[in-house]
Amino acid sequence: MPKNTQSKILVIYTGGTIGMKADPEGVLRPFDFHQILSEVPELGKFAVGIDTVAFDPLIDSSDVEPSMWQKLATLIGESYDDYDGFVILHGTDTMAYSASALSFMLWGLAKPVVFTGSQLPIGVPRTDGRENLIGAVEIASAKDSDGRAIVPEVAIWFDSQLIRGNRAVKISSENFNAFRSPNYPLLAEAGINIRYNRAFILPPSDGPLEVRTDLDTRVSILKIHPGITREVVRNVILGPESRAVILETYGSGNAPAKDWFLDLVGQAVKMGKIVLNVTQCLTGNVDMRIYATGKALMSRGVLSGYDSTTESALSKLFCLLGRFPDNAEAASLLETNLRGEITK
Ligand code: ASP
Repeated sequence: MPKNTQSKILVIYTGGTIGMKADPEGVLRPFDFHQILSEVPELGKFAVGIDTVAFDPLIDSSDVEPSMWQKLATLIGESYDDYDGFVILHGTDTMAYSASALSFMLWGLAKPVVFTGSQLPIGVPRTDGRENLIGAVEIASAKDSDGRAIVPEVAIWFDSQLIRGNRAVKISSENFNAFRSPNYPLLAEAGINIRYNRAFILPPSDGPLEVRTDLDTRVSILKIHPGITREVVRNVILGPESRAVILETYGSGNAPAKDWFLDLVGQAVKMGKIVLNVTQCLTGNVDMRIYATGKALMSRGVLSGYDSTTESALSKLFCLLGRFPDNAEAASLLETNLRGEITK
């Protein structure tokens, strides 16, 4: 039986709908964090000590910047020894980006870092925020009989499902079931009890936590579409400001076979840029060996993102480019499964 006695959890509130309230004009805006806990008295029934910290300013997560990931990772690093787990309350719009980023910034994690939020503010009668917060605290504090955390990784808890952070995608702007893990099994699901899928949860690290906050955001994303013009492709992939480009391709990693397109991709690679192929499909893998169009990309030095989400690919690149000034070194780790983010 999982135990959660004597655990201590830090709840970090960054903003988002869960803590919002309508202003006189009916626009949702963040309100005082302490009201969140008074809205959920059930939390007092857990045998868990809960400390809280609210960021200032509280933000709609559409305003998230990598500097907030650095602040979150640093805070977790500084308070790591004082807590058994962390809950991050975050807006849903960019939660998958932030959870992906934290998964690559917190190395050697042996404790849970659970993101959650809600589709309806916590003060609203039919809110999903209450269940989400209670479940997140339960998971962040859950330990095995040997005292080790059951979920020692960065994850998103939403609508009774636990998803690896770097596998999550927001799929609905209105359903309570707002997130999906298209290419990886759920880490846990709640019915009467929370059932953990232990075979799919990362093992805890034995080493110390290493917080890697160096990020380089010089990455651009190009979504391929019928009618895309040479000028647009050139501007995005050859722009001197980017060290890496994510190509969001069709199906198993296919893109137009037109000479001008392939020439531009080849030029980008020759300039030393990383070009990473991620599929627009929600499920499935990039495999550039299947079609001639994919092969043409591979032969020009395009790297495979496998079944990575775009959110994960972007934050992985930010972290690897931040760590390695040399693109070749960053590229050598890009196709490696670092934190359970790709299936090879
Ligand atoms: N716009 C909000 C946010 O992401 C939506 C939400 O929290 O659900 O911050």
